[in-house]
Amino acid sequence: MEKSKESSFLFCNLCGTMLLLKSPRHAECPLCKTSRNAKDIVDKKIAYTVTTEDIRRELGISLFGEKTQEEAELPKIKKACEKCQHPELVYTTRQTRSADEGQTTYYTCPNCGHRFTEG
Ligand SMILES: [Zn+2]
Ligand SMILES: [Zn+2]
Repeated sequence: MEKSKESSFLFCNLCGTMLLLKSPRHAECPLCKTSRNAKDIVDKKIAYTVTTEDIRRELGISLFGEKTQEEAELPKIKKACEKCQHPELVYTTRQTRSADEGQTTYYTCPNCGHRFTEG
Protein backbone atom coordinates (compact mmCIF):
# COMPACT_ATOMS: atom_id res chain seq x y z
CA MET A 1 0.00 0.00 0.00
CA GLU A 2 1.27 3.39 -0.97
CA LYS A 3 0.91 6.25 1.45
CA SER A 4 0.91 8.82 -1.38
CA LYS A 5 -2.75 8.10 -2.26
CA GLU A 6 -4.10 9.91 0.77
CA SER A 7 -1.84 12.93 0.19
CA SER A 8 -2.52 16.34 -1.30
CA PHE A 9 -2.58 16.68 -5.04
CA LEU A 10 -1.40 19.17 -7.63
CA PHE A 11 -1.20 18.93 -11.38
CA CYS A 12 1.98 18.68 -13.42
CA ASN A 13 3.00 21.84 -15.25
CA LEU A 14 4.17 19.91 -18.30
CA CYS A 15 1.59 17.17 -18.94
CA GLY A 16 -1.29 17.97 -16.58
CA THR A 17 -1.11 14.64 -14.76
CA MET A 18 -1.90 14.60 -11.08
CA LEU A 19 1.29 14.67 -9.05
CA LEU A 20 1.98 12.09 -6.37
CA LEU A 21 3.51 13.09 -3.10
CA LYS A 22 6.57 10.89 -2.88
CA SER A 23 7.82 12.26 0.42
CA PRO A 24 6.79 15.07 2.79
CA ARG A 25 9.17 17.27 0.81
CA HIS A 26 8.63 16.48 -2.83
CA ALA A 27 5.93 15.48 -5.29
CA GLU A 28 6.54 13.71 -8.58
CA CYS A 29 4.67 13.38 -11.86
CA PRO A 30 4.08 9.65 -12.51
CA LEU A 31 4.17 10.24 -16.27
CA CYS A 32 7.07 12.55 -17.07
CA LYS A 33 8.83 12.20 -13.72
CA THR A 34 8.99 15.94 -13.10
CA SER A 35 9.52 16.52 -9.42
CA ARG A 36 8.14 19.45 -7.54
CA ASN A 37 8.74 20.91 -4.12
CA ALA A 38 5.93 19.87 -1.77
CA LYS A 39 6.03 23.37 -0.31
CA ASP A 40 4.20 24.59 -3.46
CA ILE A 41 1.26 22.34 -2.62
CA VAL A 42 1.12 23.49 0.98
CA ASP A 43 1.20 27.15 -0.10
CA LYS A 44 -1.69 26.60 -2.49
CA LYS A 45 -3.81 25.04 0.23
CA ILE A 46 -3.24 28.04 2.49
CA ALA A 47 -4.18 30.41 -0.34
CA TYR A 48 -7.58 28.71 -0.80
CA THR A 49 -8.33 28.92 2.91
CA VAL A 50 -7.55 32.63 3.01
CA THR A 51 -9.85 33.30 0.05
CA THR A 52 -12.83 31.68 1.79
CA GLU A 53 -12.16 33.65 4.96
CA ASP A 54 -11.90 36.88 2.98
CA ILE A 55 -15.35 36.35 1.45
CA ARG A 56 -16.88 35.74 4.88
CA ARG A 57 -15.20 38.82 6.25
CA GLU A 58 -16.43 40.93 3.33
CA LEU A 59 -20.02 39.81 3.95
CA GLY A 60 -19.67 40.67 7.62
CA ILE A 61 -18.42 44.15 6.83
CA SER A 62 -21.30 44.89 4.46
CA LEU A 63 -23.83 43.91 7.15
CA PHE A 64 -22.18 46.17 9.70
CA GLY A 65 -22.23 48.98 7.15
CA GLU A 66 -26.04 48.85 6.93
CA LYS A 67 -26.41 48.96 10.68
CA THR A 68 -24.28 52.08 10.94
CA GLN A 69 -26.52 53.89 8.46
CA GLU A 70 -29.63 53.15 10.55
CA GLU A 71 -28.01 54.51 13.68
CA ALA A 72 -27.10 57.76 11.97
CA GLU A 73 -27.77 60.94 13.93
CA LEU A 74 -31.38 62.09 13.76
CA PRO A 75 -32.19 65.61 12.52
CA LYS A 76 -33.41 68.25 14.97
CA ILE A 77 -35.78 71.15 14.54
CA LYS A 78 -36.43 74.39 16.46
CA LYS A 79 -39.94 73.63 17.70
CA ALA A 80 -41.48 73.69 21.17
CA CYS A 81 -42.67 70.45 22.77
CA GLU A 82 -46.44 70.34 23.35
CA LYS A 83 -45.94 68.88 26.79
CA CYS A 84 -42.86 70.44 28.40
CA GLN A 85 -42.11 73.34 26.03
CA HIS A 86 -38.59 72.06 25.33
CA PRO A 87 -37.42 74.24 22.40
CA GLU A 88 -35.77 71.56 20.24
CA LEU A 89 -37.32 68.35 18.89
CA VAL A 90 -35.96 65.34 17.04
CA TYR A 91 -37.93 64.63 13.89
CA THR A 92 -38.26 62.08 11.08
CA THR A 93 -40.37 62.38 7.98
CA ARG A 94 -42.12 59.57 6.15
CA GLN A 95 -43.86 59.71 2.80
CA THR A 96 -47.34 58.17 3.04
CA ARG A 97 -48.53 55.82 0.31
CA SER A 98 -51.15 58.16 -1.04
CA ALA A 99 -49.78 61.21 -2.84
CA ASP A 100 -52.71 63.36 -1.65
CA GLU A 101 -51.81 62.97 2.02
CA GLY A 102 -48.19 63.90 1.40
CA GLN A 103 -45.54 63.72 4.07
CA THR A 104 -46.02 62.97 7.75
CA THR A 105 -43.54 64.38 10.26
CA TYR A 106 -42.87 62.49 13.47
CA TYR A 107 -41.57 64.55 16.40
CA THR A 108 -39.92 63.19 19.52
CA CYS A 109 -39.02 65.38 22.47
CA PRO A 110 -35.51 64.55 23.73
CA ASN A 111 -36.40 66.08 27.10
CA CYS A 112 -39.62 64.29 28.15
CA GLY A 113 -39.92 61.64 25.43
CA HIS A 114 -43.26 62.93 24.19
CA ARG A 115 -44.11 61.83 20.64
CA PHE A 116 -46.53 63.37 18.20
CA THR A 117 -47.08 63.61 14.47
CA GLU A 118 -47.88 66.38 12.09
CA GLY A 119 -48.86 65.95 8.49
ZN1 LIG B 1 4.13 15.41 -16.04
ZN1 LIG C 1 -41.17 67.49 25.96
